Amino acid sequence: MVIHTRFAPSPTGRLHLGHAWSAIQAHDHARAHGGRFTLRIEDIDGTRSRPAHVEAILRDLEWLGLGWDGAVTWQSRRLHLYEAALGRLRGQGLLYPCFCTRADIAASASAPHGPEGALYPGTCRGLEAPDLRRPHCWRLDMARALQCLPQHAGGETELCWRDAHAGCVRADPAAAGDVVLARKDAPASYHLAVTVDDAAQGITDVVRGVDLFAATHVHRLLQALLGLPTPEYRHHPLLAGPDGTRLAKRHGAPSLEAMRLAGEDGRALAERLRAGQLPVGIAATGA
Ligand code: GLU
Repeated sequence: MVIHTRFAPSPTGRLHLGHAWSAIQAHDHARAHGGRFTLRIEDIDGTRSRPAHVEAILRDLEWLGLGWDGAVTWQSRRLHLYEAALGRLRGQGLLYPCFCTRADIAASASAPHGPEGALYPGTCRGLEAPDLRRPHCWRLDMARALQCLPQHAGGETELCWRDAHAGCVRADPAAAGDVVLARKDAPASYHLAVTVDDAAQGITDVVRGVDLFAATHVHRLLQALLGLPTPEYRHHPLLAGPDGTRLAKRHGAPSLEAMRLAGEDGRALAERLRAGQLPVGIAATGA
């Protein structure tokens, strides 16, 4: 089997060292196995994606010496695929429209919490006659979705994925609650688009940061519901700033673009990252 990895940035800001670290790992894993490495621009969020960020991403990757194979893929040009997946889940009775605002959900005293904050309390689940002219997103009815899965001998539903670092992981999508699959302001959510695309593009190894580990529980469920293959996952450690939290803009680290424009050698920087020589104050961390 030919290994196929991807780097899938959202062009909502300039890339920084943490992105370089992730892109290098996806690129090198493919190259080490004579495989393919592709670039997917995750630009379904029309309000936050900017062409100038895309331009910088392409230049940054070239500067780092991370050439990709084939044409760049754009999620904004693949909306029909996400719509088809939504249609399929809707046809199975697994989606419902939700009219709640963030504030509504936060205000719900009974909202339980999952790994990514407040879980949706189910306010709009089972509405008799939803008025679809009002702004709404589409949520997965998690309890129903789990019932749809083939049951195993003990009455348990067994969904697993292979993770290069964590081993065999048993998926627990219920912990994420009724996740959003189509947003109010975008025709698909991250969870849906990424799962559909990884399958449609034949990605064999999803190399990405461990911050997305919790999302994989949901992606594994969507694969089962949509009849899609499960790739192998390699959730790598993240780069963290001096305070131990995931490296971000607020740490004041320069963007890759700023380093590039300052005349730094991108390939030498990539080599240092590969060798684990991180700038002062930056460390690799497990979560
Ligand atoms: N687009 C996502 C991000 O920039 C990453 C998607 C993924 O690797 O699954 O955080």
